[in-house]
Amino acid sequence: MELKNIFEDSEFLRQKSKEVSFSSKAFKKDIVCLEEVCKHTGCKSLSAIQIGIPKKIIYINNGEQKVLINPEIVSQKGETKSWEYCPSCLEFAGFVSRPYEIEVEYYDEKGNLQSDIFEGKEASTIAHEIDHLNGTFHVDIAERIANVSMDKLKKLRTEEPYTVISQNNRYRQAPSRIKK
Ligand SMILES: [Zn+2]
Repeated sequence: MELKNIFEDSEFLRQKSKEVSFSSKAFKKDIVCLEEVCKHTGCKSLSAIQIGIPKKIIYINNGEQKVLINPEIVSQKGETKSWEYCPSCLEFAGFVSRPYEIEVEYYDEKGNLQSDIFEGKEASTIAHEIDHLNGTFHVDIAERIANVSMDKLKKLRTEEPYTVISQNNRYRQAPSRIKK
């Protein structure tokens, strides 16, 4: 399985992913695929649609593996800003505003409904991946976009590092998202 990208697979990546049904065990194979692609590419998080599976599955591995099925943000607060990058949109980084804290309801691999609160960079990562399930990219909601290589991205992130604007205020949505 290969990573799809916005330049060649725009129509596919722009679709809304479908809810996972637990009546079939097919999603277990999808999770194994996500795990393998992350291992091969060095990605720490991916949504299933990025590898050609338009189902609501998010895979995260920051040392510890986490799978979120049919995830939904049910509340959010605070605000952060950072330069985001996406393996499905190489060359374009976006300076994105995200909530500092999100409460997410999702199903685990056993089909049990879970509710977790994520904060900081982990919250940004999960919000980025949930956007993919709706066909939205970081560049769609970015305040600024930069054409970058990996080296340039490091420079951008040094000059303008991940910043917490507030931890508790009501999250202000990015203007482009309100327009949608
Ligand atoms: Zn992405």
